[in-house]
Amino acid sequence: MREQCDIVQDILPLYMDGALRQPTKDYVQRHLAECERCRAVKQEWEKLDKWQAGRSIGQEPLTISTEEARFIKEVKKWRRRSGLFFLLLIVLFSAVTWMLRTYLYEPIPADNPMQSVREVIHLVPLL
Ligand SMILES: [Zn+2]
Repeated sequence: MREQCDIVQDILPLYMDGALRQPTKDYVQRHLAECERCRAVKQEWEKLDKWQAGRSIGQEPLTISTEEARFIKEVKKWRRRSGLFFLLLIVLFSAVTWMLRTYLYEPIPADNPMQSVREVIHLVPLL
């Protein structure tokens, strides 16, 4: 039975398309009548066929008006510009941070680490 099931399930799509010759078709029909498992597989194929048919009917060719096309173009342009602006902001922020770090940073003296902390605290009101 197991071997027959493999064969029947392999040719099931051909059977459903009506592409099998009569003796093979009869063989599949006889097997399906007595094998619940292969009937279940056939039902799954039928569901898939229905789903695909529904999709191809439901799909309409994509058409957009010139006004919509212009709107989409504007949105894309705006997104590109805002992306550039954001990038510029990051670069500016990095530059300012780097400058502050360069001007304000002093190595911590090994003999008196608290001294540099006091210096930093002293600098804070200047910022
Ligand atoms: Zn079977």
